[in-house]
Amino acid sequence: MINLSYELNEEFLAKLVTTPRATGYEFPAQRVIKSYLENVVDKIKSDRVGNLYAIINPDRPFKIMLAGHIDQIGFQISHIDDEGFLWILPLGGFDTTTLPGKRVIVSSKNGQFKGVIGKKAIHLMKAEERKKAPEMEKIYIDIGCKDKEEASKKVDIGDFAVFDYGYERLGDNNLAVAAGFDDAIGSFIVAEIMKELAKDKNFYAGVYGISTVQEEIGMRGAHVAAKAINPDVGIAFDVEHTADAPEIEKKRVGDTKLGCGPIISIGPNLNPVVVKGLIDIAEKNEIPYQKHAEPRGTGTDANAIQLSGAATGLVGIPNRYMHTASEVICLDDIENIVKLVVAFIKSIKEEDTFLPI
Ligand SMILES: [Zn+2]
Repeated sequence: MINLSYELNEEFLAKLVTTPRATGYEFPAQRVIKSYLENVVDKIKSDRVGNLYAIINPDRPFKIMLAGHIDQIGFQISHIDDEGFLWILPLGGFDTTTLPGKRVIVSSKNGQFKGVIGKKAIHLMKAEERKKAPEMEKIYIDIGCKDKEEASKKVDIGDFAVFDYGYERLGDNNLAVAAGFDDAIGSFIVAEIMKELAKDKNFYAGVYGISTVQEEIGMRGAHVAAKAINPDVGIAFDVEHTADAPEIEKKRVGDTKLGCGPIISIGPNLNPVVVKGLIDIAEKNEIPYQKHAEPRGTGTDANAIQLSGAATGLVGIPNRYMHTASEVICLDDIENIVKLVVAFIKSIKEEDTFLPI
């Protein structure tokens, strides 16, 4: 067993998760991570798509890539109508039943503007309208302007919006709620791992901690980063559904729960040596963990990393209510993920090939 003391920086987590970072517009949040890590790691840099790379031991031939995607689902403004309402296109996958009445923040070159997603009141709806989920094309944002001219002074076509909800604790079991833990929490974990590793760099590998962009529209940032780094081993950190809320099928997601540790994915997208390595480290160090079967290419950065040729792992962050304005996680899981992966990286030696055959 190795000494695994780590306590998460909740102030940094709250700041990161509440910085608007819709897919394709991640730059302000990347700057938050940059200032957190720039005096901690050996090297920090970005690339032309907006990925942020924090590097420890950059001269080592054996490279480990860690990836958490900083982008969150959001909306792009496509049209401003004569009455001053903003019409939008989705950046990522939404359940439209979760949208009406939500508060959003619109970011433009002129600043940030509060908005609400409007909806015809139930009293005014016809019987058949009440049964249907709203269509995405009928969702709009009201920023309180009297007409197009006033709205156009604030917002332009192509600007973006995200849910406007803060970071809060929920109950007394170390749970936290925010919009867009998917996947600021992954980028947060990567940053915290880099900070822990920087305390004693006397391990074999070079480590590339990446806050990736544009995962929600096809893991575009991870493709670029994996190509640039050409890692031997890659681990992605992304939220994973838990089965501990009503109406979730355990047959589909497994018997996973908040507070029961990292969810280690197993399947063709994942290298069996990495999977076994993570499980062995968890058992040896008495870190709780959960297993999840994933029979296809995962819809995460792990997919892009594997296709670069790296031995790939996917560590899931237990999450309830994914892609809603109120995603819930457990802070104990975050600490256990950081401890697990720091110990895993430190355990890797020159003779480890990660070849499954
Ligand atoms: Zn995600």
